[in-house]
Amino acid sequence: MSPDTTSPTASSAASSASAPSAPAPSAPVAAGYDVERVRADFPALHQSAHGHPLAYLDNGATTQKPRAVIDAEVHFYEHDCANVHRGVHALSERATRAFDGARAAVQRFLGAPSPREVVFVRGVTEAINLVAHSYARPRLREGDEILLTQLEHHANIVPWQLAARETGAVLKVVPCNDRGELLFEEYLRLLGPRTRIVGVGHVSNALGTVNPVRAMIEAAHAQGVPVLVDGAQAAPHVRIDVQALDCDFYAFSGHKVYGPTGIGALYGKETLLDAMPPYQGGGEMIRRVTFQESTWAALPMKFEAGTPNVAGAVGLAAAIAYVEALGLERIAAHEHTLLEAATAALADLPGLRIVGTARDKASLVSFVLEGVHPHDVGTILDRQGIAVRAGHHCAMPVMERFGLPATTRASFGLYNTLAEVEALAAGLRKVREVFAR
Ligand code: PMP
Repeated sequence: MSPDTTSPTASSAASSASAPSAPAPSAPVAAGYDVERVRADFPALHQSAHGHPLAYLDNGATTQKPRAVIDAEVHFYEHDCANVHRGVHALSERATRAFDGARAAVQRFLGAPSPREVVFVRGVTEAINLVAHSYARPRLREGDEILLTQLEHHANIVPWQLAARETGAVLKVVPCNDRGELLFEEYLRLLGPRTRIVGVGHVSNALGTVNPVRAMIEAAHAQGVPVLVDGAQAAPHVRIDVQALDCDFYAFSGHKVYGPTGIGALYGKETLLDAMPPYQGGGEMIRRVTFQESTWAALPMKFEAGTPNVAGAVGLAAAIAYVEALGLERIAAHEHTLLEAATAALADLPGLRIVGTARDKASLVSFVLEGVHPHDVGTILDRQGIAVRAGHHCAMPVMERFGLPATTRASFGLYNTLAEVEALAAGLRKVREVFAR
């Protein structure tokens, strides 16, 4: 492959899993984005479903993995498999180096000042539970307020609800308009003297809305309130810089960024993480244990009880190397082209309504088709090889806001093509025909 290829090689990404290289400088927006070359890196894309070429448009749920990620995990299991930190032997040293290297890769990916501020977790769900448990619970008093938004995924609602139930705190919710954009004035109004923490999704998984998190953080900080950002849907599409955002906590899941399942990261400001009690107890997270008392390891180990997902971390580092080599700006530009094409194609379909029309939107379309249940839409599309998601998208409150039990959602990733957008539109015309009979 030529050095200017848009497709990172498996070996370069895999080797950077154990010895991460500096992030690739971002290339000019969308210059020479060769989507076919990118697709060649993803084995799972080259299959048929129900006799049709697979069009995988369920990236909001999880992404397919490039060969580089698969190879990095295989390489780890074939050569370096050992437990980390405690071993004195060669394999354990290599595994530890790869694990520490993966943390450094995540640190760079998030723009975090220090590896001590990067905690490996299973994903966003665990990250938010950690913060709700270890940061919020000990601080919350009866009548205190946790400020969320109407757009949140259940992962950014239920952990706070659990904390509120135990402490007598209450949830306050920022509403959105008919486009699915947060009402900023309402946010400022709700940010009150009892607000103890704000939790907001960077990008809505149900509607695609990109929320003004920077401005929200600034307003919260003006009142001394910390902010947790759920970056599950942002990390694959937007360059994240936790220092520029000045967020207090930021969470993302590896599997949505072309990495493995079961691994993700929580960024937290060191002063906050330092002051928080452990989330889980066990090995790895202690300094000294007696039956009378135990003391905790330094950050980030204090929050990483038990044997970590070393292979997952190695795979995640390979995924980060992969997207960085492609360039997040170019990925975003490519996906924006797909979003515009899909929005235009779907707008032409009679009886179809797009739900979520925010001016700043990530590459997904949520929609309803008059007279057809979203699950039926999904099933008929599936029969044509088109994988989409139908349901409430783990965001029941936002569905309720729009008076809908469910939508169908097509979510695009870095390997999707305009031909797949056309296939989606053609597939939806077929759905209409089936139901017109
Ligand atoms: N938040 C958002 C916005 C999401 O889209 C998701 C995953 N659908 C989550 C949180 C939870 O992520 P995970 O299941 O990887 O923990």
